[in-house]
Amino acid sequence: MAESPFASLLKGIPSVDRLMNEPSLAALRERYTDELFKGVVRRGLDELREDIRRGTAAESECTIESVSARVERLLHRRLGGKLRTVVNATGVIIHTNLGRSCLSERVIERIAAAARSYSNLEYNLDQGRRGERNSHLRELMEELTGAQAALAVNNNAAAVLLALSSLAAGREVVVSRGELIEIGGAFRIPDVMARSGAILREVGTTNRTHPRDYVEAINERTALILKVHPSNYRIEGFTREVSLDELVRIGRDKNVPTAMDLGSGCLVDLTRYGIEGEVTVQHVVASGVDVVTFSGDKLLGGPQAGIVAGKTELVEKMRTNPLARALRMDKLTLAALEATLEEYTRREGIEQQIPTLGMIVKSADELQQTADTLAATIAARVGRAAAVSIEYGMGRVGGGALPMGDLPGPRVAVRPRNGSAAGLEERLRKGNPPVIALVKDDAVLFDPRTLLHGQCELLPDLVAAACGKNQYIDS
Ligand SMILES: *Cc1c(COP(=O)(O)O)cnc(C)c1O
Repeated sequence: MAESPFASLLKGIPSVDRLMNEPSLAALRERYTDELFKGVVRRGLDELREDIRRGTAAESECTIESVSARVERLLHRRLGGKLRTVVNATGVIIHTNLGRSCLSERVIERIAAAARSYSNLEYNLDQGRRGERNSHLRELMEELTGAQAALAVNNNAAAVLLALSSLAAGREVVVSRGELIEIGGAFRIPDVMARSGAILREVGTTNRTHPRDYVEAINERTALILKVHPSNYRIEGFTREVSLDELVRIGRDKNVPTAMDLGSGCLVDLTRYGIEGEVTVQHVVASGVDVVTFSGDKLLGGPQAGIVAGKTELVEKMRTNPLARALRMDKLTLAALEATLEEYTRREGIEQQIPTLGMIVKSADELQQTADTLAATIAARVGRAAAVSIEYGMGRVGGGALPMGDLPGPRVAVRPRNGSAAGLEERLRKGNPPVIALVKDDAVLFDPRTLLHGQCELLPDLVAAACGKNQYIDS
């Protein structure tokens, strides 16, 4: 049998020992532990062998210089931090995979202060003794939501788990079949219910649930009636949903508490910006529901957190549940959430202070201007390598907020003349910083809505580099 065409290449690559003693790598080797360095050398060699087998590595890549350079690159990548900032050009504002809400400088300063120094996190300065972590946020949350009591935990999934565990463990929770939702990241109402120890009592059908379905399901084992915001989908057509007001009435009639998992949790009335369909937390609380839970990093625009607002007696049960200790928020988040909530007390210019809201309410003029500038600069940079145009489409709020609430606006479309849009998207994604953009109809789309300060200036160079116009890039 003839020798594989790659066999001689494979034989020629340097050994681990040779690389461990390679003088050009000595400075790097001294800086890191032997275990880490050797691991990276092995990985570099594995990658090279794989490239050879796939036929993508030339002989020149097997020299000691070339392999050393590969190891160096890997080492820098390995130590450069895996969590990187990216440019979100998708137009999806609350993008869970990209970290949801970005925070304002004012909020970031408060995180930094809490990180740098000791604080009165759990210390009562007036009394000189142990205090309570939740006390810093409680008043603000109560004032803003209008609820009697409030509690903040690690995220909304934790808030729902804590509510179910504290109020309904071992007993039944009545939920409409149409609201047994799954949110991204495997948050499923039936699974959370099972973990909490509560027993799910499904009522109605997927598309229709009537008040009598709830009434008939309530018995001496019922602990709670739960309503869930459908967040990321809509049931349309022949449907019937029982409103929160109706549920509250049924709950009061039957002496069963009601809870709503609101998901996004918006504190400002978005209808004043022409955006319909999202009720405010205040409105839900005012409906008389006993407990509401919502996220800190969706429409609220703060850090990852879960907020429970409701009747004192029920919130107190959650606060004293041993599970609350495991679900508590850390001090950096607490600082960020407090600073975020304070923005809502200022009222004036809230959309300037909360980046998430700022992106939602960006004016058509501003978006058009940014898109025009971006398109012109990208076109100038890429030259004949791609066709650049402006197209109109829909951005999205995302994060389970306003599922149908699309945000119309312009997007810059780049169509490479050689190669595919998918290839361009991949090179952008693997760039530095990575650019996350959508591909549609052979074009890579850049939505100005989710670009942060300074990223519009950065983007043309990154696109040019990904189009193979490397002469415009310094590094
Ligand atoms: C997003 C969402 C959750 C989960 O909230 P996290 O803050 O991501 O834990 C739960 N319920 C609903 C309805 C949601 O929209």
